[in-house]
Amino acid sequence: MLRESLRSFIEKELAPHAEEWEQQGCFPHDEVFKRLGELGFLGITLPEKYGGADAGFVSSIVFAEEMVGCNSGGVGASIGLHTNIALPYVADLGTEEQKQKYLIPGTKGELIGSLGVTEPGAGSDVASIRTHASRDGDDYVINGSKIFITNGGIADYVILAAKTDREAGHAGISLFLVDRGTPGFVVSRDLDKLGWRTCNTAELAFDDVRVPRSAMLGEEGQGFYNIMAHFQEERLFLAVGSVAGAQKALELASEYAKERVQFGRPIANFQVTRHKIADMATEIEAARQLVYNTIRLHVEQEDCQAEVAMCKLYACEMATRVMNEAIQIFGGYGYMMEYPVQRMWRDARINTIGGGTSEIQREIIGRLILR
Ligand SMILES: Cc1cc2nc3c(=O)[nH]c(=O)nc-3n(C[C@H](O)[C@H](O)[C@H](O)COP(=O)(O)OP(=O)(O)OC[C@H]3O[C@@H](n4cnc5c(N)ncnc54)[C@H](O)[C@@H]3O)c2cc1C
Repeated sequence: MLRESLRSFIEKELAPHAEEWEQQGCFPHDEVFKRLGELGFLGITLPEKYGGADAGFVSSIVFAEEMVGCNSGGVGASIGLHTNIALPYVADLGTEEQKQKYLIPGTKGELIGSLGVTEPGAGSDVASIRTHASRDGDDYVINGSKIFITNGGIADYVILAAKTDREAGHAGISLFLVDRGTPGFVVSRDLDKLGWRTCNTAELAFDDVRVPRSAMLGEEGQGFYNIMAHFQEERLFLAVGSVAGAQKALELASEYAKERVQFGRPIANFQVTRHKIADMATEIEAARQLVYNTIRLHVEQEDCQAEVAMCKLYACEMATRVMNEAIQIFGGYGYMMEYPVQRMWRDARINTIGGGTSEIQREIIGRLILR
């Protein structure tokens, strides 16, 4: 039911605007988020008392799969970051006061969230962040900067990672909920990107930003571990979105191959095209089985750290390969902005970088196997 209602909403209210929004390089986020909230699509896994639907994790996987129907990776990324990443952080780690403040308007689409971990000098190596929060009476004073923050320029708050103890290494990082408009917190730059063009990605600066102790999210010193724990689901969302995107590229390429005639016959009749399609379909199915099985392990609370990293690695790399082949099947038309495959490839390209690069996933898998 969720899949059907989401699909129908996306087909009617989001997909028809994709071209226009891509041209503009943004989408009417306030309007779209409020409409999603009205229809009950935000925070579906959250408890009903905070506006959620108490639906299980699998429902958010359905959500991530269906978002591909937006025809604009940026729209899916912006919505997904809020509902599948920011809201769960607050739901899992927040105090009652924080839940009341962020979850209820968050599920209505009235408050948009972002997650600020990456810094100009600290990407894969999260523990090396330099943003610092120093204790001053009952407050913390934050100084530093963040980069590549999805929704950073449009969000009402950022879940911010900062060092509260510079000497404590991994155990020296804490999370804070910092509201837009807090003096000293500025969006220094909106970033221009290869893909996800409708989604805001920003650089943020924090200059003596004073927040009360009650703005800390989760326990002091637990920030790094909480980020790593939430990475598990974030990686599954990226993997499942990659499979759904690759499936769509396969379908578009198959239809085109049956219609496009060269040398007097549809290009689908050339064995080389059939084999390309066969390889694409096989890779997609392999990734789908890996991802679905890992989701099952995750839901059953089995230890599946290696499998999650495998999903992220394989599904995200698979999607860029499949989309690359889809462009090849479309020939010159595949390279044209008016054909959607180029955008699918540009939008999918981030998936092997964001949420932990492919190289980091290989490190995780290798270390776990060799331990
Ligand atoms: C569009 C977009 C949206 C994003 N959204 C967010 C967001 O909302 N919030 C947020 O906090 N971050 C966000 N990010 C940041 C993203 O998570 C980082 O880009 C990513 O973690 C990689 O960090 P980096 O870019 O600094 O690359 P680096 O860590 O500098 O890596 C550069 C290269 O070195 C390799 N490398 C690094 N360390 C190792 C190692 N130990 N072994 C082998 N190879 C290694 C990497 O794999 C990569 O190929 C976003 C990024 C983009 C592009």
